[in-house]
Amino acid sequence: MRTQVAIIGAGPAGLLLGQLLQRAGVDAVILERQTPEYVLGRIRAGVLEQGTVALLEEAGVAERLHAEGLPHAGIELAFGGRRHRIGFEATGAHVTVYGQTEVTRDLMAARAASAATTVYEAADVALHGFDGERPRVTWRAGGHSHELACDWIAGCDGYHGVSRASVPAGAISTYERVYPFGWLGVLCDTPPVSDELIYANHPRGFALCSMRSRTRSRYYVQCGLEQKVEDWPDGRFFDELRARLDGAAASALVTGPSIEKSIAPLRSFVAEPMRFGRLLLAGDAAHIVPPTGAKGLNLAASDVRYLSRALVAACRDGDPAEVDRYSERCLRRVWKAVRFSWWFTTLMHRFPDAGELGQKLQEAELDYLVGSRAAALALAENYVGLPFED
Ligand SMILES: Cc1cc2nc3c(=O)[nH]c(=O)nc-3n(C[C@H](O)[C@H](O)[C@H](O)COP(=O)(O)OP(=O)(O)OC[C@H]3O[C@@H](n4cnc5c(N)ncnc54)[C@H](O)[C@@H]3O)c2cc1C
Repeated sequence: MRTQVAIIGAGPAGLLLGQLLQRAGVDAVILERQTPEYVLGRIRAGVLEQGTVALLEEAGVAERLHAEGLPHAGIELAFGGRRHRIGFEATGAHVTVYGQTEVTRDLMAARAASAATTVYEAADVALHGFDGERPRVTWRAGGHSHELACDWIAGCDGYHGVSRASVPAGAISTYERVYPFGWLGVLCDTPPVSDELIYANHPRGFALCSMRSRTRSRYYVQCGLEQKVEDWPDGRFFDELRARLDGAAASALVTGPSIEKSIAPLRSFVAEPMRFGRLLLAGDAAHIVPPTGAKGLNLAASDVRYLSRALVAACRDGDPAEVDRYSERCLRRVWKAVRFSWWFTTLMHRFPDAGELGQKLQEAELDYLVGSRAAALALAENYVGLPFED
């Protein structure tokens, strides 16, 4: 079997890359370890930057997104018992609330409607020869071994994938911070407590009121890493959430049975470079951000924007210049999003070792943020997504 681009992973990065390549006439095969149902069952991101929406339009998969997505022109910060709005109007941009699951569903449907090959339940995927001219990928499925020859390998297989792990240790540098807390998240079919997302800084810990639609809410509370989902029946979760919100939000909160509940650890991670010969990494395979800034999915999309253009130029036009620039271009944007996500996480969460001074400093910074047009604009500009460098 032979293709131009072997894509490892059918998460948003891999599926979006496959769709953009296919529309440009470049042949790609996607290899995914899990079943499609498993991939769709993962509840993750829900806030799309305008650049991500534009890329989904370019990929021809934005029809339902435009019909069902919710445009948001600001967020609210809750602290000291009050809420303060940070508007995005001065940036000229907005974000769109539309779940990662729905983005994935739309991309899967578009791929299924095309003749493109996707192999689900591909076990023991292994990458070979990407330091030379003839890379190959092997895997096992249905009790048989398979091999795919290709020109390029796109490693879109997330943080725990095989692509980054296949790079010799001496060729890669990694930068990492694991935060001393996690997010306990609950999804429920209740109307959201507010029209816009509420980010709460409270002495009991951070809380986030988010949503996936007008009838589906996603709520989070900061929790200790030792906590277990079983320790948090719905009643306890909503009591804790209410305690961290301002009075108006606490009394407006509509609760209902959770349809998903999970604890996610928070991490900042970057691997450099993002290209190793004929292997190119994209999305969570190369970097992770804590979800506070809503950047994970959007960064995966912005990598794919650069990668799709680079691979089309290399495969269709025989021009490798964009591939040569890929890593450096992506990383400039990646590091800015990593910085913003770290800053917003640091501002909004209780850190075990921060003490009273830490809390006072957070309160002063929040007060500055909501009182200064310049500071509020800097938050808004980063939240809606920094411009692309073309
Ligand atoms: C629990 C959780 C909650 C999150 N919440 C938010 C949020 O609220 N906001 C936000 O912006 N971001 C959030 N994120 C981050 C966001 O979901 C990711 O940044 C996004 O999924 C990245 O897409 P990706 O395609 O790069 O990676 P992934 O979505 O991880 O996809 C990688 C794919 O590769 C497959 N794969 C892995 N290993 C192999 C292998 N060896 N062979 C073949 N296939 C393989 C995986 O099964 C998966 O389907 C969250 C992430 C997690 C884990």
